[in-house]
Amino acid sequence: MAGELNLCRERLEGALPRKVEEISGQNPYACYQCGKCSAGCLFADHMDVLPNQVIRLVQLGDEGVAAFRAPWVCAACLACAVRCPRGVDIGKVMEALRVLALRRGLTPAPLNLGERYPQIALVGAFRKFTP
Ligand code: SF4
Ligand code: SF4
Repeated sequence: MAGELNLCRERLEGALPRKVEEISGQNPYACYQCGKCSAGCLFADHMDVLPNQVIRLVQLGDEGVAAFRAPWVCAACLACAVRCPRGVDIGKVMEALRVLALRRGLTPAPLNLGERYPQIALVGAFRKFTP
């Protein structure tokens, strides 16, 4: 996330938010950054960026978000979706980012099973890594 923040119109209306919406069915711009999703995410401690920050980066058209670890840690548990006052299902946005990462040939961020992940993270991983 470090570096210059480019808020040009082309980027804000650019490919990333449109692609994410197309794949996930979620409107990234519905989010107003209240942070309730991140406050309730059981996996936030294992993420490099918080769920609300992921949405913000998508809103800003930051293509680098697909390379973050957070989408691979997300277990699609829906805890954030039920808390969101704007009805944004971040699990679906995370899934869209994984799809975009794979399309670009990015290697999925490794889940080190030596670390202490909650069981649901493993269940979510099976959904992600099996056809
Ligand atoms: S709970 Fe919803 S509106 Fe609030 S930051 Fe998360 S996605 Fe955005
Ligand atoms: S769906 Fe993903 S981002 Fe949302 S609370 Fe669950 S693990 Fe966190």
